[in-house]
Amino acid sequence: MSEACLFQLEQNLRALNLTNAVKHLGERLRQARESGMDYGEFLLDLTDLELGIRTENREKRRLKEGRFPLLKLLETFDFDAAPGLDRRLVRDLAQGDYIGQKRNVILLGKSGTGKTHLATALGIEACRQNRRVRFVTGYGLANELIEARAEKNLGRLIARYARWDLLVLDELGYVPFTKEGGELLFQVLAERHERGSVIITTNLGFASWTQVFGDPNMTAALLDRLTHKAHIIECSWESYRLRQSLKEVDKRTGKTIPV
Ligand code: ADP
Ligand code: MG
Repeated sequence: MSEACLFQLEQNLRALNLTNAVKHLGERLRQARESGMDYGEFLLDLTDLELGIRTENREKRRLKEGRFPLLKLLETFDFDAAPGLDRRLVRDLAQGDYIGQKRNVILLGKSGTGKTHLATALGIEACRQNRRVRFVTGYGLANELIEARAEKNLGRLIARYARWDLLVLDELGYVPFTKEGGELLFQVLAERHERGSVIITTNLGFASWTQVFGDPNMTAALLDRLTHKAHIIECSWESYRLRQSLKEVDKRTGKTIPV
């Protein structure tokens, strides 16, 4: 291939926005010559490379915009430490069909049982499937909404929150909202209803939600929408952290402590 041809090929690839192919063209051409690839094989190799890098970049972008505080994966979740958890349901959820169906997932249970870990892991799986995901705590979202209202930006923020394919709302109920915070959060969830999915983690039984949201009618309407067709996962096993600390004590003292 002449210098002029190579130059033109690079221009064409650039014009087609195949920037990764341009970047690796020289090296891939050399490899193709050395390994005796035919034209078809070379084209396949170059397009595979372009697609592979694009997928990787897209996943990185999705993860970044998701703002996950910690990267917790299903691969590192120990199902044996969560007796009673329906493994098949979790594996099914990891496939992401619930997002297409606009269904919600509610993880209920005591602190330390792995709710945030599971919610994060499902969020990351969804990013890998090129879904638009956003992780936020209940408290963080309520504050963001209150600030947006003060800055006359509320409509835009609620519309933005309605657009995520999946919203992971962590720790709903740990800190009670102000009346305003509760109402604004209600608006976000009402706006998302049947438009997108929400994963909620909470330590509160449904009966206690009024304490957090304030208004009983509003809470009833919210629960009605959120739980409609939702996957409700009750995490009723021992705290993972507690289990780990007890094991540590156990190792040090040599005594067995049942967990
Ligand atoms: P919760 O949100 O229910 O309070 P977390 O998800 O924050 O609990 O879990 C507390 C810690 O224990 C985290 O570091 C988490 O990764 C870990 N953890 C909890 N459950 C498991 C599990 N079954 N397998 C592995 N790590 C776990
Ligand atoms: Mg948590």
